[in-house]
Amino acid sequence: MSRKNIIAANWKMNVTPSEAAAFLDPFLNIFSEATAVDIVIAPSFIAMSKASELITPNPAVALSAQNMSHEASGAFTGETSAAMLKDINTEYVILGHSERRSLYGEDDAVINKKVHATLAAELKPILCIGESLEEREGGQLESVLTSQLEGSLADVTAEQMGDVVIAYEPVWAIGTGVTASPEQAQDTQAFVRSILAKIFGEEVAAATRIQYGGSVKPGNAADLIGREDIDGFLVGGASLDPQSFTEIVSAGIGG
Ligand code: PEP
Repeated sequence: MSRKNIIAANWKMNVTPSEAAAFLDPFLNIFSEATAVDIVIAPSFIAMSKASELITPNPAVALSAQNMSHEASGAFTGETSAAMLKDINTEYVILGHSERRSLYGEDDAVINKKVHATLAAELKPILCIGESLEEREGGQLESVLTSQLEGSLADVTAEQMGDVVIAYEPVWAIGTGVTASPEQAQDTQAFVRSILAKIFGEEVAAATRIQYGGSVKPGNAADLIGREDIDGFLVGGASLDPQSFTEIVSAGIGG
């Protein structure tokens, strides 16, 4: 089963609207035509409108949010709805990032509501899962990932899974400079795919794209992307530098 690689930049709480334009103007010139990978940029909410103006006419690059409310509208101060994201041509929404889980108390039940809200709005969730170092060393890797997948994807149908991307991000590798080895990432992502097969069947599991995230850099991207069950990257720190992100995308095109 061939899956199209998907390389996403998670800018987190970095990059102002004018900095986004300064990044995107040359970047979109390099990737101006549809390529062998899906390229996704997730700016902060405040930079999304500016980014949308530049990204929307570009066939190679899609816009993502970093989070979304599961509520449709109303008295939810500080929140952003699916309709608002759709209005500026957003295609993807990162959900369940470990920073949302650990710093803002999002659990699988909340993430599941958000997954359903994105799918109902025809937005594509990039669902993040991953274990802490204590969990891995304590032998809980498989149970943690299984319960994150079962909880976050509860009541999602096999058909809806066509719009879902999974990002496997070991918490101990995010922003730490420590990357999972290609073998560790491959073994874990093969396990993630086996759980998807149990929940949704082999066909869905074989078609679902699973990104790796955690200190991806130009120097390790090619080795990671060459592995069977690694279908792209969710990139934090290295996506802030246009040169690094361009090299990572290029590795994705080659892999
Ligand atoms: C992330 O936050 O999704 C991430 C993978 O960050 P970094 O690349 O900086 O480890």
